[in-house]
Amino acid sequence: MALLLLAACGAWAQKSQKQAAALRERGLQSITTAAARAHVYFLASDLLKGRKAGEEGAQLAAEYIISRLREQGVQPLLEDYGQTFEAVSRATLGRPRWFAEVDSVALIRQSRYQSLRLRNILGAIPGQRTDEYVVIGAHLDHEGMNVHLVGDAIYNGADDNASGVSAVLQIMKAFAESGAKPVRTVVFAFWDGEEEGLLGSRYFTETCPYIDKVKGYINFDMIGRNHKPDNLPYMVYFYTAAHPEYADWLRSDVQRYGLRLDPDYRAWDYPVGGSDNGSFARKGVPVVWYHTDGHPDYNQPTDEPQLINYEKTADITRAAYLCAWRMANP
Ligand SMILES: [Zn+2]
Repeated sequence: MALLLLAACGAWAQKSQKQAAALRERGLQSITTAAARAHVYFLASDLLKGRKAGEEGAQLAAEYIISRLREQGVQPLLEDYGQTFEAVSRATLGRPRWFAEVDSVALIRQSRYQSLRLRNILGAIPGQRTDEYVVIGAHLDHEGMNVHLVGDAIYNGADDNASGVSAVLQIMKAFAESGAKPVRTVVFAFWDGEEEGLLGSRYFTETCPYIDKVKGYINFDMIGRNHKPDNLPYMVYFYTAAHPEYADWLRSDVQRYGLRLDPDYRAWDYPVGGSDNGSFARKGVPVVWYHTDGHPDYNQPTDEPQLINYEKTADITRAAYLCAWRMANP
C-alpha cells in the first residue's frame, strides 16, 4: 500500500513537473526577434529625443511601457505603475551630481539646490510565496540631446538601453502568457535616471521595505551589439560569484535550446560596477547582468536601431527568461 502511494506521489510530481515545463515553453515561444525590433525602434526613435531622465522623451518611454504592462494584465507593484521620486543636486552651472537617497536629499536641501522629478515603472506577477521576490530590470532613460552638436544631436540609445528594456518587456509578456503562477513574486522594473547615477534603482533598493526578501536581480544594460565582429554571438555574463549555478543554467540552456550565444562567464565577488546591478549588489542581493560589451557608438548619437543585432537580443532574452524562471521557481 505504502509503495503504491509512493509510486502515485512520484507519478503526480512527474506530471506536475511536466505541466510546469509545458507552461515555461509556452512563455518561451512568445519571445521573438520581431518584438525586440519593434520595441527598440520605438524607444530609440528621434521622437523620444534620447529619453533624458525627467524630460518628455523618458515620460513617453514610460507610458509605452505601462501600456505594455496593461496589455498583459500585469498589475502595478505599488498603487500605481509609477514610483515617483525626487533627485536633488547642489546648485551648479555644470552637469549636476544627483542624489536620490533620503539622507543625501535632506542634506543637499539645506543649501541652494536643484530638483528633478523621476519615475520608475514597476509591474508584478504575484507568487505563491508572498514574501519572496525576484526583480528583473533595465534602465529606460538615456543621455537626451546635445543641441550644440553639429549634425545628428539626438542620443537615441538603441543599445543603451532600449535593447535592455525590450528584454524586460518580452520576459514580462512570456511570464504572463505562460499562465503559470510563479513560486516567488516576479517584479518587472524599468529604472529612471540610471545615466545620472543609478538614481532609480538606488531609490528602489534604499526604500524597499523587503529588500532582504529579494532573492535575485537580473539586469540588462546594452544587449544588442557585436563587440567582436568575427564572433557575433559573443556576450558578457556577469554574475555573483557565490552562485555558480547561474553559470550552469546558462551553459545548459544555450545547449538545450540551441541559442546562438557565446557567453564570456565573469564570476564577480561583489558586482557593484557598471549599471543598476550595483544598487542590488550593495544590498546583498545576488545578481546576473547580461551585456554585449562596448562599441564605437557607445554614448554617441550613432547608437541607433539599425545597428542592433536583433537575433542576438532575442536569444539573450530567451536565456534570461529561462534564468528568471528558475530564480522564480526554486
Ligand atoms: Zn546603460
